[in-house]
Amino acid sequence: AKQEGRNRYQFFSADIEEKLLAKQLLERHMREALEKGRYEVFYQPKVNAETGIIVGAEALVRWRNTDGELVPPIRFIPLAEETGLIVPIGEMVLRQACDHARFWAEQGSPIVVSVNISAQQFEVESFADIVAAVLAQTGVEPQQIELEITEGVLAKDQVQARNTLIALRQIGVGIAVDDFGTGYSSLAYLKRFPINVLKIDQGFVRDMLTDASDAAIITAIIHLAHSLHLDLVAEGVEEEEQARRLLAQGCKVMQGYLYSQPVPFLQMSHLLVSGLGA
Ligand code: C2E
Ligand code: CA
Ligand code: CA
Ligand code: CA
Repeated sequence: AKQEGRNRYQFFSADIEEKLLAKQLLERHMREALEKGRYEVFYQPKVNAETGIIVGAEALVRWRNTDGELVPPIRFIPLAEETGLIVPIGEMVLRQACDHARFWAEQGSPIVVSVNISAQQFEVESFADIVAAVLAQTGVEPQQIELEITEGVLAKDQVQARNTLIALRQIGVGIAVDDFGTGYSSLAYLKRFPINVLKIDQGFVRDMLTDASDAAIITAIIHLAHSLHLDLVAEGVEEEEQARRLLAQGCKVMQGYLYSQPVPFLQMSHLLVSGLGA
């Protein structure tokens, strides 16, 4: 039995070592990709479902590996967060998004571009200063930029979070709560923090036609947003019927495969000129 135990331990340890090596390799590749500019920002339109007009876009990062394949964020964001690499990667995404938003405004489409911000980025003491600097360097109007944060970010250090949000609002960028309804929630933070937008999590939207609880949660979120004068975005909208029901309840802005997948900058530029129907 002793012998068996040791073997099992050795097997276990080799397994851990393998995982560790794979992680170190991935981390090295992520750093390299940052130096060589191999991260690319895609954009997914946010659409006013009443008019069909694109009113905004969410910036979503992809990594183009050396084989030219696109690596989705689920494959590298977790490790980027663990290693702190998310801070420089996130700043690069913000810079690209600001640059592109300014370009689109110059083309006659001053849409709002939203950028995902990880907890670690948000917790950097000088985060608001970094945002202000990037805005100044790219020349974009602050009103064109919105930062998407999750509830978890707000639950941590509430004093610091509040100060950072106030500074960001003073700069003029918008604040959206991403994946709303999935996190830890005392809803009191909606009053305490200067927030502009609630994004209804795609999990609720996915099952809203078949699950009465999800439908009820969506209705409650819409009421909440209306009474607190917050804007709303429903994400993960894939079916006409979902869009119809959301719109009937007063949620106008939607994002999801029903309208468009996330697309590269050039394609997004075309969509803004010719519209989604074209
Ligand atoms: P998220 O912020 O909740 O972004 C929405 C995700 O849902 C995106 O996945 C988008 O492509 C996907 N999606 C959009 N419409 C639909 C739909 O109709 N159906 C379904 N099933 N999915 C839809 P993506 O691009 O793979 O990003 C995954 C997550 O990675 C994001 O979730 C976000 O948490 C993170 N992420 C992406 N880009 C960044 C970034 O630049 N910085 C940070 N910190 N995180 C990012
Ligand atoms: Ca998001
Ligand atoms: Ca989301
Ligand atoms: Ca999510």
